[in-house]
Amino acid sequence: MTSNTQPLHTGVHPRSVVGRLPKYAAGKPPVPVPGLASFKLSSNENPLGPVPAVLELLHGGLEVHRYPDTSCTALRTALGEFLSVPAEDIVTGAGSLGALNQILAAFAGQNDDGTPDEVIYAWRSFEAYPICVGLAGAQSVQIPVRADGTHDLPAMAAAVTDRTKVVFLCTPNNPTGPALGTEETEEFIRSVRSDVVIVIDEAYQEFVRAADAVDGIAMYRKYPNVVVLRTFSKAHGLAGLRVGYSVSGPELTQYLRSAATPFAVSSVAEQAAVVSLANYDQVVERVQSLVEERDRVTAGLAALGWDVPDAQGNFVWLNLGSDTPEFAAIADRHALSVRAFGEEGVRVSIGEVEANTRFLEICASYTKPPRRS
Ligand code: PMP
Repeated sequence: MTSNTQPLHTGVHPRSVVGRLPKYAAGKPPVPVPGLASFKLSSNENPLGPVPAVLELLHGGLEVHRYPDTSCTALRTALGEFLSVPAEDIVTGAGSLGALNQILAAFAGQNDDGTPDEVIYAWRSFEAYPICVGLAGAQSVQIPVRADGTHDLPAMAAAVTDRTKVVFLCTPNNPTGPALGTEETEEFIRSVRSDVVIVIDEAYQEFVRAADAVDGIAMYRKYPNVVVLRTFSKAHGLAGLRVGYSVSGPELTQYLRSAATPFAVSSVAEQAAVVSLANYDQVVERVQSLVEERDRVTAGLAALGWDVPDAQGNFVWLNLGSDTPEFAAIADRHALSVRAFGEEGVRVSIGEVEANTRFLEICASYTKPPRRS
């Protein structure tokens, strides 16, 4: 039977959780406006792209007819040296999301008696968390962030039950911006049972400048139930290639390796990541220029009297509440796409200098500034 003669309804039923999953609203491209350059500030991407050596690699003669090395030995070796950790403690994935899914697949899901494991995380936080947790068959336990956009770690610790298997700590928190402090994080880790896996998601780690910010790798060295997530999508400008990794001790990595999708990281992505690491001094320069832009934007907002949480990633959070759709529509009319979250707030990525300046101009003429929730 050819496809155009098939009945419209097959009667297939997905797992019940599939119908309950929130949709991932990926950042939209900007709507073109005549006479204005348009900019995408909706996906926390690196507007500068990868370092020149990566572009040379991508334009050169790549061999793509062979499968990649499924364990990414070259990249793990380079990362092991870069981070001063054993290469065996690193497990790669298709983006840090791929690495996150390995953690869930290995440690949290539905038990044989049908009860779901619990996964605790702050909310609002990274939009993919509820989707990944739901797909794994586990149950999300979302603990509201405080009015200043920080994790409420005591409330998260109090939410741990016998069914808690995994906790995500997102630092800096996407989309609100603040990073976790070292002392509060250690206190939290110590207060949680050691059989709970604590994931420190550091997707934006390279952009952090807060003096007391936690260093996930230092936590991994001290606590065997800590897994650190990092990515090449942000600082390295390789979001389109999909390569990230986790770092944890051997007690955890043995299970993460079992849960990894074979060949998840393409050979192109692996080589690009190795080249980018080899040119890390240039990555640092690019990150520094974005941090300076971020600080220019946050200083500009502060000068307008806008109350914005401490921005430690490559984005700022505007707690606009019910004005969220209106602000996003104004940005659209100025050829800037931003990320609007319902009637909660707007996340604006740090982009090209011209884009950031235009964003500040829009804010200067907007009369309903964000407030603390
Ligand atoms: N963690 C956080 C906090 C993020 O914001 C993102 C991307 N937006 C990711 C993980 C996933 O990034 P990737 O899969 O591209 O590494």
